[in-house]
Amino acid sequence: MVLCAATMGVPATSDLPQLAYVRPRTVDEARAALAAPRARAYAGGTDLLPALFARRPWTERIGTLVDVKALAATRGIDDRGARLRIGAVVTAAELAASAVVRRAAPVLAEAALATASPAVRHRGTVGGNVVTPHPAGDVVTALLALDAAVELADDDGTHELPLAALLAALHADTWPRTRLLLAVQVARRPRSAFAKLGTRRGFGRALVAAAVALDGARPTVALGGLHGRPFVAAAVGAALAADAPLAPALGAECRPPVHDELPSVAYRLRAAAVVIARARARADRA
Ligand SMILES: Cc1cc2nc3c(=O)[nH]c(=O)nc-3n(C[C@H](O)[C@H](O)[C@H](O)COP(=O)(O)OP(=O)(O)OC[C@H]3O[C@@H](n4cnc5c(N)ncnc54)[C@H](O)[C@@H]3O)c2cc1C
Repeated sequence: MVLCAATMGVPATSDLPQLAYVRPRTVDEARAALAAPRARAYAGGTDLLPALFARRPWTERIGTLVDVKALAATRGIDDRGARLRIGAVVTAAELAASAVVRRAAPVLAEAALATASPAVRHRGTVGGNVVTPHPAGDVVTALLALDAAVELADDDGTHELPLAALLAALHADTWPRTRLLLAVQVARRPRSAFAKLGTRRGFGRALVAAAVALDGARPTVALGGLHGRPFVAAAVGAALAADAPLAPALGAECRPPVHDELPSVAYRLRAAAVVIARARARADRA
C-alpha cells in the first residue's frame, strides 16, 4: 500500500512557502542576519514549522529562517555555583537528561520531561519555548519559578533582562523580532518540582502547569495555562507558605483568565489547587 503525506494528514514539504535559510557561525553574523527584513530566528522548528505549513497570517512576514543552532553562545549547560547558565538551543531532551539540572533545579528537568513526546523533546529548545507566546509553555513555567534572567543580543550589544519582562513584552507584542536569545540563567533550587494536568501525553499542552521552588521555607509558584502567559503567582506562593486555602489567591491572580477551546477556567482553577499541592509536596520531599 502506498501512503502519501496528504492521506496521512502530514503536510508535504511543497506546502511550505518559499523561504531562504542561513546558518550564522557567530553572534555578530546572527545579529546581522536577523536585522534583515523578514528574517526570523529558527531553532528546533517545532512551533515555527507547523505555523508555516498552516500558513498562519503572521508567518507571511517571514522570508528567511536564521538557524541559531551553530552559535557557541547558545549551547551547553554551565554550572556557575549559585546559578546555572543554559544555552538557548539546549533541547528539552538534554535538559531532562542533565545530571546538573536534575540535581540543582529538578523542577526544570521535570518540566522538560513533561513536554510533548520524545521526538518533539529532541528538537524543541529552551529558547523556542520562551519566545513562543504560549499560555502554557512547560519549560518557561519552570524557569519563572527559578527567578530566571535571559541573555539577549541585538543591534545595541548584549543585555540581561528578567524573564518575566521578556514575557510581558512578547504578550504585548512589543518584542523586537531582531532580538536573539542567547541563554537563560536560573537560581539553584534543589527543592523544587513540576506538576502538570495535560490533555494527552505526546501532544501535551497543559491545562494547568505548576512549578514550585523552595528557597528555605519560602515557596515561589509559577503557573501556566490559566492566564495569557505563564507567570509568577506571588499571592498563591504566600497562601502556600501560610498553609491557607489557595482558591482566593488563584481567582485574584489568574486575571484576565486564558481564553481558549480547552475546559473551562472554573474547572482549571479548581484543578490548579490540586496540581500546586502535588508540586509543593514533591518539592518538600526533594
Ligand atoms: C506535537 C507538539 C506537542 C507539543 N507539546 C508541548 C508541550 O507539551 N509543552 C510545551 O511547552 N510545548 C509543547 N510544544 C511546543 C514546542 O515544542 C516548544 O514550545 C518548543 O520548546 C519550541 O522550541 P523550538 O526550538 O522548536 O522553537 P522554534 O519553532 O524553532 O521557534 C519558536 C519561536 O521562537 C523563536 N526563537 C527560537 N529560538 C530563538 C532564539 N534563540 N532567539 C530568538 N527567538 C527564537 C522563533 O523565531 C519562533 O518565533 C509542542 C509542539 C508540538 C509540535
